[in-house]
Amino acid sequence: MYVGRHRPATKPARGRQFVIPVDLLSSTVAAGLIVRDAGASPLSAEAAAMKNVSNSVAGLGLAADPDAVAVAAGDRGNLRASRDGVRAEAALGLAASSAAEAGADAAKAALQRIAAEKAAAKKAAAAKAAADKKKKEAERKRRLALAQRWIAPFHGYTLTSGYGWRWGRMHPAQDLAAPTGTPVHSLSTGTVIFSGWSNEGYGYMVKIRYWDGTVSWFAHNSRLLVSVGEQVTPGQKVSYSGNTGNSTGPHLHLEIHPDGSGPVAPRSWLAARGVYL
Ligand SMILES: [Zn+2]
Repeated sequence: MYVGRHRPATKPARGRQFVIPVDLLSSTVAAGLIVRDAGASPLSAEAAAMKNVSNSVAGLGLAADPDAVAVAAGDRGNLRASRDGVRAEAALGLAASSAAEAGADAAKAALQRIAAEKAAAKKAAAAKAAADKKKKEAERKRRLALAQRWIAPFHGYTLTSGYGWRWGRMHPAQDLAAPTGTPVHSLSTGTVIFSGWSNEGYGYMVKIRYWDGTVSWFAHNSRLLVSVGEQVTPGQKVSYSGNTGNSTGPHLHLEIHPDGSGPVAPRSWLAARGVYL
């Protein structure tokens, strides 16, 4: 601080007194001019101390709390960085979001395609399974129909005595006259329950129980081709006709016993199953 009058070292040429305002002086000092502290008395110890304190305070004022300033500066930096980060994150987020959306769309499309393919495959498999089942069922029915079909037992015959009363007694059969050795066929699928000589006048006889429980009797055979317990198929040859037992000529004596019980008229029973004698 400059107090007092400025007295130039040399008197101006025109004798004018040169006064420099304090403010200007300060600036001239700052500009590097040499200023003599002319006329200024030395500062007292107290004043010097006060000046130092003041300077210290002023110094403190410039950086009241260096740490705080540093922190503040750092915070600004951090804040800036943080803002940049937020912007970057937002941008990244947007990018990621759109990328994720695009990815999600692609994944969704892929899943839908897979689901559609699965559904189509499932449908095709179901259709195939249904077709296979239908085919198997048709095959099963075909086989069953074959197994359960009814066949005429004899060929090349002449109908002689029918089912009914004959000469005062019941004839529970249909007689079919044919040369000895004419093949006799199983009426359907069944099991042989008797094959041998009959002590009741039937000669060589075969009895077969069919899949529906019906039992057929073939009597007066010349030769037997099956054994008891044997499984037979529709039309299978089981014997040859003949004239054995109480018989007056070569013929097949045919009896039909539904459920193994009493005999019924063979022709009508067979006719009901599509076989016409
Ligand atoms: Zn007879």
